[in-house]
Parts: sequence; structure tokens; C-alpha cells
Amino acid sequence: GKMVVGAMLAHAAIHSPDAPATICAGTGRTFSFGDLDARANRLANALAAQGFRKGDVVAFLVSNRAEIVELYFALARAGIVGVPLNYRLAAPEMDALIAAMGATGLVYEDRFAPEVARFATPRRLTVRIDGAPGPGEIGYEPLLDAAPATPPAVEIEEDDPQYFNLTSGTTGLPKAYLLTQYNNVTLDPMFRAFDLSRHDVTMTVFPAFGRVGFAWIAAAILHRIPNVLANFEAGAALDLIARHGVTILNLVPTMAAMMLAEQEKRGAGTADLPSLRGIVFAGAILPEPIRAATEARLCGRVYEYYGMQETGALVASTPEDRARAPGSVGRPLLFSELRVVDEAGRDLPPGETGEILGRSPGAASGYFQNAEKTTETFRDGWVHTGDLGALDADGYLFIHGRRKDMIVTGGQNVHAAEVEETLLRAEGVEDCAVFGLPDPLWGESVTALIIGTAAPAALDAHCRAALAGFKVPKRFILEQDPLPRTPTGKVQKFLLVERFSGA
Ligand code: ATP
Ligand code: MG
Repeated sequence: GKMVVGAMLAHAAIHSPDAPATICAGTGRTFSFGDLDARANRLANALAAQGFRKGDVVAFLVSNRAEIVELYFALARAGIVGVPLNYRLAAPEMDALIAAMGATGLVYEDRFAPEVARFATPRRLTVRIDGAPGPGEIGYEPLLDAAPATPPAVEIEEDDPQYFNLTSGTTGLPKAYLLTQYNNVTLDPMFRAFDLSRHDVTMTVFPAFGRVGFAWIAAAILHRIPNVLANFEAGAALDLIARHGVTILNLVPTMAAMMLAEQEKRGAGTADLPSLRGIVFAGAILPEPIRAATEARLCGRVYEYYGMQETGALVASTPEDRARAPGSVGRPLLFSELRVVDEAGRDLPPGETGEILGRSPGAASGYFQNAEKTTETFRDGWVHTGDLGALDADGYLFIHGRRKDMIVTGGQNVHAAEVEETLLRAEGVEDCAVFGLPDPLWGESVTALIIGTAAPAALDAHCRAALAGFKVPKRFILEQDPLPRTPTGKVQKFLLVERFSGA
């Protein structure tokens, strides 16, 4: 057969029909692989009965619950192109995506009814999960009940588009691109790096509308293991790990920091999470203090991977890799390749910092309706990540941050991440973001926004003791409000630069 997404769930349903597949934290319902498989077929057939054909586009606005799994697999089987909407976007932004991608159907969860009420793009079908369907809408369960559970007779090719994905929106507006069926059946090398097996129980707290969320959903299905689907909340995450015996999960560093704070508040320790064998980090630089605290108090085995939504994971590290190459994110995954190049695109020798280029079977081939960003990023068969890093002689990758996060001050380069890590070690710093502001004298001046109670003079002294003078922030801004972040907790510095420029 073909390497297509729907086959993964069919395989799990044949081999482990009654095993728990998705445990829905919000609704308290558990679905087996057989349930999910049948329900995905019902949904695919129901959409066909509503006139949706291969190539049509259907958007969905659903948080982390079983229906989003069913939607991914039903649409993949029907050849209907999905638009998983990022529910943190404002209603007009979601509506613009629906219009741009030509979605003529919408499935939404009732908690998002206020947003949906503001959508203006005309559509043929609206399906509502939970609550009473409004005029002209159909309820999700009645829709499924009326359709057969037989696999839809649609021929799906490996290169067929599966869904539109969006980048996280850390550096500006999210960029959209299509992922193919093939792109999403080739995510497995990442999970080999974490030794994922039939004995694991996983939990997905990354938003399932994003690629990391989908990757873990797919991995749990491939390995036929339970996946607890929950919307992230630190206390609930700790409780769910204990209740369901979760063994491994993916977090961004911010999520771990919030769980650690919650754990401290409860006066609990590692012993309260005996099932947890691994925490996997990705999405942002893992500050050393958070890594150390995670190892000491949440779970001793810390894995990390690096990649972007456009490429899928490119490299991963295990605790053993960390011991060999401290601070590295690891070496390329099976079928992935890496290069580090200078401005002219020439490969750099070990130890030298340049732009990271990647290539993998999970990589998209260009952005949707964005020729400029496409030629900038997808060039000569390589994805130009916009991240800076260096390889060592053994091929271990070290990330120095985004090119956009490098501050050029008085002709010297400052990596924001290095300064942030230093600040996070200071007393009275809960959170921080370091960025450059335009400066007539320095070009850019290093600026630190601090969430916490520390005094600027103390922070200045702390930085001077640890960093070269040109790296020390020229200005410390103290605030109480949390930093602006993406749904997965990445700091949106472009908003800070906008806010503090000229202020
Ligand atoms: P946008 O492209 O919309 O600004 P984004 O780049 O944050 O958002 P993603 O594709 O989700 O969107 O994130 C990929 C980026 O996250 C990488 O390019 C890199 O900068 C950062 N990143 C991912 N993993 C790691 C890691 N392990 N260590 C350091 N940085 C990482
Ligand atoms: Mg990006």
C-alpha cells in the first residue's frame, strides 16, 4: 500500500482494536483504536454525504480532545485538505485563513462559538461539537451516527496535501504551508531517538492544531499506546501524569518552569511522578537552570530536539548525548541532514557559527501565497532555518538562537539567549526577555525586560560578573505582567521591540 496517514490508524485498529488510544482529559472519555478508526471513517463518509470531495478544504477549531484526532484522520482518508485553526488567533485572523485557503466547511467546539459568530466567509457546512447546534448547523455526534463506519473509497496518494499548517508566530504573523500525507508519515525517526515503545503512555499538551501536537498523536497511534489529550495547565498536567501513569511527554521550557513552580507550591517532589521516564523539550532554547531543575525535580531523563514546523524535527539528543556534548541538541535524526553555512552559503568548519540548513522527509516545500518568504527559506533543496548554530567535530549541533535574536551592538554580536540564561540565574528574576532596540550610538542596544522583583543595579552587577561588558543590558525594564507568548509559550519579541522602540 501507500505511505499515507489514514493507514496508520487502520493498522492500529486491526492490531489493538480495544486498547485505549485517546484519553480525553477535558471530557473524561476514553476512545480505543477501534473507536477512533470507526469514528474517523464515519466522519469521512458523513462529509462525503454532505458533498465534500477530495481536494475540498475544511477548517476546524478544536482544542486538545479526541475529535481533533478524528478530524485529522477522517480528512486525510477523504482527501479533504484540513485547516487546523490556531484558537489563540483573533476571529478576523482565523476568518482570513478560512477565506485564503478556500475552506467551505467548518467543524468547531462550542467553547469557540463567540469567535465563530464573527466569521464572515461563506461556507456550505458548519458542524458543532458539544452544545446545541445553531440554525443551519449540524451536531457532530448526530452527523457521525448517520454515516457508515466502512473505509471511504477514496484513492489517496503520498503527495496529496493533508493539511495547512502554520508556524508559531514567534517572529511575526504565522506563515502557512501545506503538508503532504508523506510529510506526516515520516515523523517516526524522532520517536526512535526517545526510545518510544509499546510500554509508554504519552500525553499531548502541545496544542493539537500545531505540528508537534499532530506528531505526538501520530506517534502514539504508530506505537499503539495511550495518549492523554489535554489543554496545558501546570497543575492539571502534574495530576494527569500521576493519574494515567504517563511515561513521556513533550514540553516547551516554559511549560516545565510552570510545572516546577506548581510542584514547589504543593511541596511535592519527583517521587510523586514515578511513572515519568522522560521529558522531551523542543521549540525554544532550553535554559540550563530549567534543564537542571527538571532533572532534579520532575524527571531525570531529559531529551531535546530541534527543528521547525516547516521541517519537522531535524536533530535530537538523549541524556547520553548531553553527557558527551553538554549544551548540544544532538545529531541528525534518521533521514535528516544538516549544514551550517556562512553568509555566502559555504559550509563552515566545526566550531564556527553560521546559519543552520536542514533537509528531512517531513519538510514542506514552500509557504502558501508567500513567494518572498518561500525563496528566502526554501532554497537549493535546503530549508534555511534562520537559526544560528555550530557543529562540533562529531556532528553535534549547538544552537545559538535565531538570527533575529542576535543583537548587533557597537559592531559586536550578542546572542540574546546567553544574556537571558544569565539573568534567569539572578535572584528575583521570574522571567525575562532580552532584545535589541534601535540606538543612534550603538546601532542596537541590549535591552532586558524582567518579570520579577530584582533591582536594576543588582542585575547589572550580576551580569557584569558573568558576561563581557558589551553583552550587559544597557537598560533593565521591570514589569509584573507576563511576557507576550505564542500558544506554546515562546516569547514574541517583535511585540516588545514594537512596544519599547522610542519609549
Ligand atoms: P515563526 O516562524 O512564525 O516566527 P517559530 O519559528 O517559533 O515561529 P516554529 O516552527 O514552531 O515557529 O519554531 C521553530 C523555531 O523554534 C526554530 O527555528 C528555532 O528558532 C526554535 N527552536 C526549536 N527547537 C529548538 C531547540 N531545541 N533549541 C533552540 N531553539 C529551538
Ligand atoms: Mg520560524
